[in-house]
Amino acid sequence: MQLHTPFRRSLLKATIALAICGAPLAYAQDAAVQPGDDFFGYANADWLKSAQIPADRSRWGIAGELGELNNQRLLKLIEEAGRNATGEAKMVADFYNTAFDEAAIEAKGLAPLQQVLAPIAAIKDKAQLTRALGSSLRADVDPLNATNFFTENLFGLWIAQGLTDPTHNTPYLLQGGLGMPDRAYYLDDKPSMQTLREKYQAHIAATFKLAGMDDAAARAARVFALETKIAKSHATREDSADIQKANNNWKAADFAAKAPGMDWKLFLQSAGLGQQQKFIAYHPTAIIGAAALVGSEPLETWKDFLAFHTINHLSGAEPKALADQHFDFYDRTLSGTPQQMLRWKRSLAAVNDAMPDALGKMYVERYFPAESKKKLQQMVSNIVAAFHTRIDQLDWMAPATKKEAHAKLKVLYVGVGYPDKWTSYKGLQVVPGDAIGNQLRAEKFHTVQQLAKLKQPVDNTEWCMPAQLVNAVNMPMQNAINFPAAILQAPYFDPAAGDAANYGAIGATIGHEISHSFDDQGAQFDSKGRLRDWWTKADSEHFQKASAVLVAQYSAYKPFPDLAINGQQTLSENLADLAGLAAAFDAYKTALKDKPAMADADRQFFTAYATSWRGIQREAALRRAVLTDGHSPAKWRTYTVRNLDAWYKAFDVQPGQALYLAPQERVRVW
Ligand SMILES: [Zn+2]
Repeated sequence: MQLHTPFRRSLLKATIALAICGAPLAYAQDAAVQPGDDFFGYANADWLKSAQIPADRSRWGIAGELGELNNQRLLKLIEEAGRNATGEAKMVADFYNTAFDEAAIEAKGLAPLQQVLAPIAAIKDKAQLTRALGSSLRADVDPLNATNFFTENLFGLWIAQGLTDPTHNTPYLLQGGLGMPDRAYYLDDKPSMQTLREKYQAHIAATFKLAGMDDAAARAARVFALETKIAKSHATREDSADIQKANNNWKAADFAAKAPGMDWKLFLQSAGLGQQQKFIAYHPTAIIGAAALVGSEPLETWKDFLAFHTINHLSGAEPKALADQHFDFYDRTLSGTPQQMLRWKRSLAAVNDAMPDALGKMYVERYFPAESKKKLQQMVSNIVAAFHTRIDQLDWMAPATKKEAHAKLKVLYVGVGYPDKWTSYKGLQVVPGDAIGNQLRAEKFHTVQQLAKLKQPVDNTEWCMPAQLVNAVNMPMQNAINFPAAILQAPYFDPAAGDAANYGAIGATIGHEISHSFDDQGAQFDSKGRLRDWWTKADSEHFQKASAVLVAQYSAYKPFPDLAINGQQTLSENLADLAGLAAAFDAYKTALKDKPAMADADRQFFTAYATSWRGIQREAALRRAVLTDGHSPAKWRTYTVRNLDAWYKAFDVQPGQALYLAPQERVRVW
């Protein structure tokens, strides 16, 4: 579970732009907004007065500001590497320069794309189709850590330890094949969704036309109709988050029997999984549905499907007209972003996708001081200690459950700043002047590296997030947490700021990630990372009852009159916010114990928390997030404070105020 979801696969694509590094944590108070009525508006009043979403963004906030600062830094590092580097740094520079050279891409026109499309056009029968579908499988999703369920390929692949077999890496097969973000976009009756469907079909047609293919409208109609059929077999976003529904152990031979319609042996062979015996069918209904459609739908329709998604997926490396078309639908229409991101930022995002660790290594050497790492490791151990104490103090939990909870905390791997072992890109071919080829080879290289893990021991110190990303993540099966260097800077963490501010901001984030080990999802895994019920019946009932209250609390929030937050879909994150904030508060109290007390320290703590979530979004982006994101939107995340008694005391919040909850209504889980 990551701290927040970048809108696109690439982080830096979604989180860019500058400001305020080094600025103190502001906590302006606006007399017009009472903390008890709108804590978000109160704490961020000054920022909200002047905040504007840049034209190339669908949302804006701290992550965006720091992302922009990081982009400037990364660009500088790449430019230096282009002048004098060798090895991986030189590969990074070559990749970037090739992606950035719009004139060279324009001059080549459609020729590089046509080379990629030719094998699709040459497909003669369903066997060749199956081979093409299999060989397009990429390790491009991650249902548990990054909660990324999206792939345009027919299926997504994730390699991780087995849900009930923590000692072996296992391939997980997930649903895919849609060009819009979720099944709801295809099946929901709302007029706004119907409009999006029309615009999507028009986008498919425009893409075919710009790629020089004939009969664009008819092809688009076929692709759209096929995707609608695929969407019907897809799990909902809410079901995707239910790990019990995903725990389907299939043997290689089961696919043919359980999901007829496609030659699975051929598919798996083509995907590099021919030798693999055990799988997890994460989305069984979609696997069954897609295989049946491979059997029943005409070959030409599937060829159009493959061609469209190939062009669509590679748009960043294609001539301007295709890249603009892609922006027009995905960013302008789906997220409300008025202006395309500058070329250099898009190119940087492409390098971040292709060689994240090579760039991360360069970033950390220059921008992550050893002193920060030391301080943060101390904060982490204080917050872990606070968790141990909170577990001890739970009056409802049985000793056996407590014992396993303590054991989980003891084995937790907390990575601060960067991985112990960097990914190597030895063997990856970066060819100057071949933008499409570079992207395809990098994606294949990553997939081959992931497939190789099937023959390697499970390593819980493996990172799943690059050091240069402003984010953080808990990996429930690995019992591991990553805090990338890029988030460990002001205003999240300011070495010059006081404990109250640092614990309220980065401390709550650290607590959030640790808490994921004990949210509704994480609590299903034991200290070995095995999906196993280690709770007594009574404990489990208490936990579920408390969770249900939190579901109701969030489901009552309405970002729009016609659209409420889905308290079930966001439960894991809301639980982590709640437990994380509470643990950070305890740890901050411990850190202050021997220091002179400051009168308004508690107010600083909570205000720093709300400040760390300051952010605004465009309407389309906010609607999309409410429908598909596992996180509540930032504003409502700050309302977590309603459940902590100390917040009422700090701000003198009284009955009758909008955020007031009677003591018995405040949710306490951990
Ligand atoms: Zn989270």
